[in-house]
Amino acid sequence: MRQALCEWYRRVARDLPWRRTRDPYRIWLSEAMLQQTRVDTVMPYYERFLARFPTVHALADAPEQDVLHAWAGLGYYSRARSLKRAAEVIVRDHGGRLPDDPAALGRLPGIGPYTVGAIRSIAFGARAPLVDGNVARVFSRLTARAELTPAQLWRLADELVPEEAPDVFNQALMELGATCCMPRRPTCERCPVAGECGARRAGNPEAYPAPKRRAPPKIVRAIGAVVTRGVRPQRLLVLRRPERELLGGLWLIPTAPGDAPEGLAQSLEAEIGATLRPAGEIGSVRHLFTHRDLTLSLHRFDAGAKPSRAPAPRSDARWCSREELEELPLSGLMRKVLKAIDATPATSPRRIR
Ligand code: SF4
Repeated sequence: MRQALCEWYRRVARDLPWRRTRDPYRIWLSEAMLQQTRVDTVMPYYERFLARFPTVHALADAPEQDVLHAWAGLGYYSRARSLKRAAEVIVRDHGGRLPDDPAALGRLPGIGPYTVGAIRSIAFGARAPLVDGNVARVFSRLTARAELTPAQLWRLADELVPEEAPDVFNQALMELGATCCMPRRPTCERCPVAGECGARRAGNPEAYPAPKRRAPPKIVRAIGAVVTRGVRPQRLLVLRRPERELLGGLWLIPTAPGDAPEGLAQSLEAEIGATLRPAGEIGSVRHLFTHRDLTLSLHRFDAGAKPSRAPAPRSDARWCSREELEELPLSGLMRKVLKAIDATPATSPRRIR
């Protein structure tokens, strides 16, 4: 089975940028980006990120805001912060080279057992097992066991990974899960290991593995304040999200839970020292996070036409023109907010530039 799988992989493997290298830093970066994210989405980010931070040293030396800016739009921003922190540790404790020791790798921020296996087998050619969602599905189907535990999956991976070319075997397993043994409608007729597959013999591959019972995302409503000041350019008030909260380190308009804008306006008035004049409702934007289904109602407020270069009221707050916003790390949610602002002109003739 291993031989058939590896031969198949060598024949059909997709040509992806991170498969043309053995550089541990590049392998690590690709694995961090590919978690929960599609290959097509990752590719341009991977290239841009490497152009900006070509080495572990470059990443370790960069301000976190620059790293988040390069990551903006990929989601799951804790991955970017962990990457940056891990780069600092690698420079400080390992001379800027990723360690090949599994314990040392596993101690780095954001690097779990899967990433340890991927870096060790693909970059260092070590006989190291790995299990991700694709591998777990393939194992479940091959063994026709719907409820394999994580320990059983890892044991199986460890038994199967060969001394010779462990990188090819591990990538072949993942490629099979991504391109052939998909969750829905697996293409068993093209599968190199169909002859060994218990689920195919049983005639119902899609029944494996048993579906996970996930709690539906929590419905959350919040208010977003679109506060502007000045003319030509008009500037929008944005705040940097607290580190440990959702979208930590990224910039967003001021928000507050609930659906009454008055409370948010009052607390902002106190913070920025300006009177906010309500200037109409924009509508709402909806954004899905892993565990939250957020509806953000947007309300405009005018903070007057004071000099447009007025100092920011707090260190984690800025008045930004549209061009200046582009220099900040913005989330997918903030992009939706900007689109909604553009689609709904202010009651007054001013628009955010
Ligand atoms: S035969 Fe079908 S179900 Fe079995 S491993 Fe291959 S693609 Fe998956």
